[in-house]
Amino acid sequence: MIFKQDIKVWTVRELMRHAIDHLQQLGFDEARLNVELLLAHALACQRIHLYTSRYQALKREEVNTFLLLYERRLEHEPVQYITGTATFMGLSFAVDSRVLIPRPDTETLVEQALLACNDFPDGRTIKILDIGTGSGNIAVSLAKFERRARVTAIDNSPGALEVAQGNIEIHGVGDRVLLHEMDAFEPVDQLLRTRFDLVVSNPPYVSAEDWVRLQPEVRDFEPRDATTDGADGYELHRRIIELAPYLLNDGGVLLLEVADGQAMQVVAMMSQAGFHTIGVANDLGGIPRVVRASVYAKARSSVRLN
Ligand code: GLN
Repeated sequence: MIFKQDIKVWTVRELMRHAIDHLQQLGFDEARLNVELLLAHALACQRIHLYTSRYQALKREEVNTFLLLYERRLEHEPVQYITGTATFMGLSFAVDSRVLIPRPDTETLVEQALLACNDFPDGRTIKILDIGTGSGNIAVSLAKFERRARVTAIDNSPGALEVAQGNIEIHGVGDRVLLHEMDAFEPVDQLLRTRFDLVVSNPPYVSAEDWVRLQPEVRDFEPRDATTDGADGYELHRRIIELAPYLLNDGGVLLLEVADGQAMQVVAMMSQAGFHTIGVANDLGGIPRVVRASVYAKARSSVRLN
């Protein structure tokens, strides 16, 4: 371990080597990437700079700044919260402990939503609803990569909405992404009073039982409500499937992210709800990750919701 009171002069390379070995010994995954991200953040430089100036001697205060960040990582705080940024769809998002850290898995949901957009005629606005937007990663990416998208994004957490608003501004999509504080269990269709072409969501889908066994990075640091439904892991899928016929235009598309092992059950739920053209897309790890379906008016029951 490196100590703040050490008088040793460290080069970038030595400090990195030392910290990487230490993290590896403690059993942390991706030790090198973690150290690169933390040191680059401490030095306010790009990661590549760590290698182009690897023999440079670090100032004592630079070492100490790094140590403050590094000690947080040793306590299992996710590196994205420490640096305040996460990369998603090649874009940089501001994150803090009020939001779930965007995952690469969720890029599959965005890619599938972009593919679904291709089916809409040119020049026509595509209205999209993102349920549980968190940092706004899905909503902002869709607005960035699909010029025709007009996104409404809801979340029940005022803190998350503040983070999302910041990301909307960073990416300059304020004219096409609108946020509303709203819970999925409220009468969302009546409150929004409009219909959408696409409804997307990466809902909290970890079951209460699995949540207690999650790695400390997630369980002790990420918002519980963004991770688990506190029940069987399907509460939000069920609710969104119930809402979808009232939220979507005829033939609109619903896209839901699912946990490893949940896809078949969600397919069954959509099929029972009378949805059409149900399909599953795998993430880059080959895990069924996104379930999509087309929804027609017929799927609306005669009984009003809520
Ligand atoms: N939409 C955000 C994401 O996909 C947050 C999702 C959530 O909080 N469950 O990362």
